Amino acid sequence: MTSTPFAATLTTNPAARTAEQRDAILADPGFGNHFTDHMFLAEWTPDTGWADGRVVPYGPLQIDPATAVLHYAQEIFEGLKAYVHADGSVWLFRPEANAARMQRSAQRLALPELPTDWFLGSIQALVEADRAWVPAGGEKSLYLRPFMFASEVFLGVRPSQHVTYSVIASPAGAYFAGGVQAVSIWLSTEYSRAGAGGTGAAKCGGNYAASLLPQREAAEHGCAQVAFLDSTEQKWIEELGGMNLYFVQSDGSIVTPSLSGSILEGITRDSIMQIGRDLGHEVVERRVSIDEWRQGAADGTITEVFACGTAAVVTPVASLKWEGGEAVSGDGQPGKVTTDIRSALVDVQYGRAEDRHGWLTRVS
Ligand SMILES: *Cc1c(COP(=O)(O)O)cnc(C)c1O
Repeated sequence: MTSTPFAATLTTNPAARTAEQRDAILADPGFGNHFTDHMFLAEWTPDTGWADGRVVPYGPLQIDPATAVLHYAQEIFEGLKAYVHADGSVWLFRPEANAARMQRSAQRLALPELPTDWFLGSIQALVEADRAWVPAGGEKSLYLRPFMFASEVFLGVRPSQHVTYSVIASPAGAYFAGGVQAVSIWLSTEYSRAGAGGTGAAKCGGNYAASLLPQREAAEHGCAQVAFLDSTEQKWIEELGGMNLYFVQSDGSIVTPSLSGSILEGITRDSIMQIGRDLGHEVVERRVSIDEWRQGAADGTITEVFACGTAAVVTPVASLKWEGGEAVSGDGQPGKVTTDIRSALVDVQYGRAEDRHGWLTRVS
């Protein structure tokens, strides 16, 4: 059954927080700690398609212990932000790219695709209901988390015949509260994030579950993130647990690992390919080996390294560490190319620079 066009009802939260309570949260929201007064829900079955779209008071979901997602992890998600511009209007950055990626993730996880009008409509409906929760100023944003999971109560192993889609929203502070800081990255040699033919290119919770142990190892070595190599040869740079990588070369070109089938296709990664060209850099997608990173950092061919993703936008990488060694890029401080690319992207998102590529969609 194909889904009907997007439609949603609204049930206003009778226990919504007061303006005072909300302002206290928005003054220092952090990341992922606080949630708005509403959430979006819809369900899919083979008979109905996507149906029963509704904005309802934010609150716990009741989950039967035999709900399929709890056992077999058939789940996918997205992450995007709403930004307030100087005139008070609210905008999304390339939301149709998130919609398309969620459809690709759904395909890989044998979940039903959510039509683009449902994806955009659900976000629009939630942002409208919780407009007062979109924080303004100082690189704050409203982080939106659409997700979909197998909600059939059944322990058999097959694609779920009942699926739930939801969107929740969380006010987010500036990722780098005290100014942009360069971080150290731990090289995981024992674990992979994803394998050939696996789910690395899908945005699914299971990939994150697999990255938590190496992530903890990274933290134990004083590193903020972990870098993964390909699982076949343990040679080619893939990405971090939740961010893609870029290398700035001494000839001014910027290089990002080509999509190998096990790398997540980041929308920030893709946007930086365009912004890099706009700023006059040659942009290259190709395989980058771990030896090239080590060697390039040592001989100066690689002058800057940065990671990118929606949450932190662009994070400068000061060094790569491994058991018994370290490769420092440049002088270990955020480099000029990294900083310029970050500013160019953030300026478009917050409406301070012209939206040359039609990336912004107004939602309020
Ligand atoms: C979401 C994600 C990214 C970054 O994607 P953006 O669309 O830029 O936010 C990179 N790697 C992984 C594994 C991710 O899940």
